[in-house]
Amino acid sequence: METLVATKLYAVADVIPVSGDYLCVPCGYLQYFEAGERFTPCLACLAGTSDGPSGYQSVEDEFWQFIA
Ligand SMILES: [Zn+2]
Repeated sequence: METLVATKLYAVADVIPVSGDYLCVPCGYLQYFEAGERFTPCLACLAGTSDGPSGYQSVEDEFWQFIA
């Protein structure tokens, strides 16, 4: 079975490992991030802030997924 696709998620508190587009899992928003910086809350759904979707309201909640 080939189901082990890399789907690691990153939180706002994490350092960005690779430059590229990342997907906000709860809302589907795509944002470009530069390696070495830190992730930001999602501009579209505010995930990573107290105003974000349920379950994504902390800087330690992981929701950014590397796309390309
Ligand atoms: Zn979002």
